Amino acid sequence: MTRRKKIYEGKAKILYEGPEPGTLIQYFKDDTTAFDATKKAILEGKGVINNRISEFVMTKLAGIGVQNHFIRRLNLREQLIREVEIIPLEVVCRNIAAGSISTRLGIPEGTPLPRSIIEFFYKKDELHDPMVTEEHITAFNWAATQEIDDILAMTLRVNDFLTGMFSAVGITLVDFKIEYGRLYEGDFSRVILADEISPDSCRLWDSTTNEKLDKDRFRRDLGNVIESYTEVARRLGIMKEMPTVIQGGITGDTP
Ligand code: UDP
Repeated sequence: MTRRKKIYEGKAKILYEGPEPGTLIQYFKDDTTAFDATKKAILEGKGVINNRISEFVMTKLAGIGVQNHFIRRLNLREQLIREVEIIPLEVVCRNIAAGSISTRLGIPEGTPLPRSIIEFFYKKDELHDPMVTEEHITAFNWAATQEIDDILAMTLRVNDFLTGMFSAVGITLVDFKIEYGRLYEGDFSRVILADEISPDSCRLWDSTTNEKLDKDRFRRDLGNVIESYTEVARRLGIMKEMPTVIQGGITGDTP
């Protein structure tokens, strides 16, 4: 037996070499960080839930023609993905003011935005992921103009689809962050959706009570983080396939 090769380890996920060229295995950890990783915790079972929610969302998005890196889920914590060249941008789409836009522009949290707003942040931990414009992105060659156009169009489609999907189960999609990568096909490359879509990367509020069902529960010490993530999975109808969550822990967990 040889040990599989670790390609990259991030704050919440690990990427291993995949079984075939052009594939990787994405492993979802229980590690949770906020505020540039100055706040850390291990939330038992989080990786299992996010693996499953992200699979569900990526599969649905592929179904409406939003190409993404997901190939198939391998086990509770791992999924097989297409290897892409990650574009170093965090693409945030907002429907309702919350988090950094509220503090930056003085808009009270919960204020509906006049229209969906897309923002770009440069992925650079040392610089605390500064907000950048299309000018910076093209000048520094992080992405080409055509790629930015594709990213904007895909992000709006993802927003429309996710807004409807969550709304149908009584959840308001306040905002979310997604990442994109380049998939090379011969001399050409196309931009596809990568990374994950989960309560770690979305703001999800109960539509009736506005109760937060996402990572803000961790960031703001609101408690019941795993319970809220599990509730999102339950409402999406994927709980029956999930292992039982017992007091924050998950049974039936295999590597
Ligand atoms: N977000 C994320 N990773 C980051 C920063 C933000 O997934 O490194 C998500 C966050 O969960 C929220 C959205 O992007 O759904 C907008 O986040 P915001 O800019 O308000 O950042 P905050 O300072 O509140 O994390």
